[in-house]
Amino acid sequence: MNLSPENIPPLEDRYRRKISYARIAVTRSCNLRCSYCMREEHENGQPSEMMSYAEIGSIIEALASMGVEKVRLTGGEPLLRRDISDIVRRAKQTPGIRRVTLTTNGLLLDRHLDGLIEAGIDALNVSIDSLDALRFREITRRDEFGRVKANLDRLISLGTIPVKVNVVMLRSINDQELPAFIELTRDNPVTVRFMELQPFDDHQIWRTGKFLGMDKIRERLLELHPEMEELQGSGTQYYSFRLPEHRGSVAIIPAYTRNFCQSCNRIRITAGGRAMSCLYEKKGTDLFEVLRSGTGNEAERQDALRALFRECIASKPEDGRKIKDAGSSAGTSMSEIGG
Ligand code: SAM
Ligand code: SF4
Repeated sequence: MNLSPENIPPLEDRYRRKISYARIAVTRSCNLRCSYCMREEHENGQPSEMMSYAEIGSIIEALASMGVEKVRLTGGEPLLRRDISDIVRRAKQTPGIRRVTLTTNGLLLDRHLDGLIEAGIDALNVSIDSLDALRFREITRRDEFGRVKANLDRLISLGTIPVKVNVVMLRSINDQELPAFIELTRDNPVTVRFMELQPFDDHQIWRTGKFLGMDKIRERLLELHPEMEELQGSGTQYYSFRLPEHRGSVAIIPAYTRNFCQSCNRIRITAGGRAMSCLYEKKGTDLFEVLRSGTGNEAERQDALRALFRECIASKPEDGRKIKDAGSSAGTSMSEIGG
């Protein structure tokens, strides 16, 4: 049955949460090896395991027809895809999609930045966990600080799109760099976001005492700068601060210690083509079953995809933390689910 767009009911779960935000991992491959995310031996995916440009386009179209308005492209490292700007352009041209953003480690921005901007990207998040070359190498296992930092500097100096800088806080590894990251906000209109470590890494660094919680990070920020002005936080940026005369701001993302489930509007698509209703879900719903069935036309595929998304969202847990506590996702790398 082919419905006209205005007759397609929105994607909504049993608890009346409307799904308006899709995070799509466009590859599981990466050119860094952050120790809290993946092992050195992490195997980059085979091209055939990866969703194609056309498949990603179909997914975005089906989701947009059910009320998804915002898409974040992530990975693995999304800039490893040569067609990343085309994917951005396609997402931007999909009726209903208002905002397309991307999270990257920044290493290949020199190759892709102009294309992304030309394709209409709305904002970029760049992950960089250290502003010190040696420590950067220790964390990422790659000697690429110079290129990442130069790319970040160029992006900021262009001033064309909003930039957020993601920093995973690791106790006794990069927590002494809080002042340096705060300094970055003095002359640059960026938001530096200190993120809590989450239990999604191949070999569970998480269990080795490196976790630094939001309360501690906040305490340290206020110790360093008692004059910090607290801004209205948003859903995920729980605490948000600005220093007088700084152009940028800092925020804390308490991804582990705070529960945002009540207002969750997200669906995730893994690098292996599975829809996940929750970060903590284990299995997900296989989309290749429809995308690669080889039967039907695009309108029929759209109907079938919508049915799969509804099936997926029907099982969205009210509280993802409860299924986490049941140990469901431990050992899965963030590179597969996209963060
Ligand atoms: N490769 C890109 C990057 O690093 O920005 C995009 C994918 S990465 C999985 C997305 C975000 O997840 C990054 O900001 C990264 O630091 C974060 N991340 C990865 N593993 C994490 C973990 N175990 N806990 C918290 N954040 C994690
Ligand atoms: Fe790669 Fe991003 Fe994971 Fe680091 S956090 S290993 S850059 S996917």
